Amino acid sequence: MTIASGSTDGGEIKPLYICLSANDNVAIVANAGGLDAGTVFPDGLTLLEDVPEGHKVALETIDVGQRIRRYDVAIGVARWRLPAGAWVHESVMDMPGAPPLEDLPMATVADPGGSVANAGTRVFMGYRNADGSVGTRNVLGITTTVQCVSSVVEHAVTRIKRELLPLYPNVDDVVALNHIYGCGVAIEAPNAPIPIRTVRNIARNPNFGGATMVVSLGCEKLQPDRLLQGEGFGADDVSYWTVRLQQQQGFGGMIEKIVDVARERLEALNAREREPCDLSGLVVGLQCGGSDAFSGVTANPAIGHAADRLIEAGATVMFSEVTEVRDSIDQLTARAADRAVAEQLVEQMRWYDDYLESGGVDRAANTTPGNKQGGLSNIVEKAMGSIVKSGHRAIRGVVPPGERVTRAGLNFAATPANDFVCGTLQLAAGMNVHVFSTGRGTPYGLAMVPVLKVSTRNDLQIQWQDLIDVNAGRVADGSATIEDVGEILFESIIATASGQRSWTEHWGLENDLALFNPAPIT
Ligand code: CA
Repeated sequence: MTIASGSTDGGEIKPLYICLSANDNVAIVANAGGLDAGTVFPDGLTLLEDVPEGHKVALETIDVGQRIRRYDVAIGVARWRLPAGAWVHESVMDMPGAPPLEDLPMATVADPGGSVANAGTRVFMGYRNADGSVGTRNVLGITTTVQCVSSVVEHAVTRIKRELLPLYPNVDDVVALNHIYGCGVAIEAPNAPIPIRTVRNIARNPNFGGATMVVSLGCEKLQPDRLLQGEGFGADDVSYWTVRLQQQQGFGGMIEKIVDVARERLEALNAREREPCDLSGLVVGLQCGGSDAFSGVTANPAIGHAADRLIEAGATVMFSEVTEVRDSIDQLTARAADRAVAEQLVEQMRWYDDYLESGGVDRAANTTPGNKQGGLSNIVEKAMGSIVKSGHRAIRGVVPPGERVTRAGLNFAATPANDFVCGTLQLAAGMNVHVFSTGRGTPYGLAMVPVLKVSTRNDLQIQWQDLIDVNAGRVADGSATIEDVGEILFESIIATASGQRSWTEHWGLENDLALFNPAPIT
């Protein structure tokens, strides 16, 4: 990475640009507020027009039809001649097509990053579960089979929190796992297993300690025994811990029954205590939201460094967001640990291509107006900045949407990039710490796991001091390295897993679950 600085005629602002590869013909302006036309960088490059913060400037003349390169990748093709110093934005380029899914390099990078050298050397204080997973929080989750019960469950949760929770000091919270699935849906449709297994596997999230209870209406399509079948659930357990509202005496009877079952569950959860666990118990979900051009320069590379460190210490790390990796699929298949993993990556990309095509769009529908204002011209540029979250290790597993992660190390959990849907699917996969990078800023949070926010810019950290947990903006002005911030984040993840509260927990910021349901509703 090259950070070039110089001075303007006024002598006060030190103009900064950041270039990521010697093969790039654009760089991004790093100064807060952007730079004016006429600004001269120390290498002599002069801005021909005003360039906003995070936006690209041509480092050399780019002829019409020539590729615009950032991250050593063609992010676009010039629509007309762009002289050195020109502002390079969405309107001056055509976006390349998605890379084909044939003839990709399959598991060609030999074990990148080597072995798990440091496994067992670090511990965190977690709650051990009977199934071998480890909780970072001790939460009573109340699963629901259908949306019809949501308001009753919310009412019960309010009462449980007020009357019961103070009696069980080792329990952190009580959370209603409300969603909009369960009835009025084509439950036999080929894609229906995705939302069903998502709800099922969220109930098995390590932070619920294997003590989830269920509230059902009674007549819904998604019956409790259908929802909670298979590994992790005994048939007797399911019936004992399920409250069917249509069997209760009035609203009062419903609430009493839910509170009675919750009391038993709280007794069991309250007996749990934190104990030292090695990092193999950590399942860290990575995500970004409200990205800007700094995401791929500061926060996401720092997250990638932390991911490498976690994996070396034996942890499981998931990255996701299919539309934000689609344009770099060749890099991912090359990093697959073996051919089978590479083929699973391709399978997930192909499924998602078809899913988007059935809706009349492609991966280009991902980028937002805020992304573009922040300097990201298109999904190709956004994707290149997004995948650096995944660090450098081999990809050992691919998790289809709604499934649980089964392999330690780096995993690709196939999810939409939508923050809430991605977070919900990562919860189902077994995530117990969430790391979330943001450039534009978002108050996103989850009730079931701690969420750590990483800012891409100093300005955002200053503006949102009471929401940002780790600031990676210092990488952009050269006052910290990617490794410095990555180490801070690594330590912060361990401290958070051990009970230190994140800002979203401090403020109680809890977004609703958002199920991914690609199947028809009726
Ligand atoms: Ca996202």
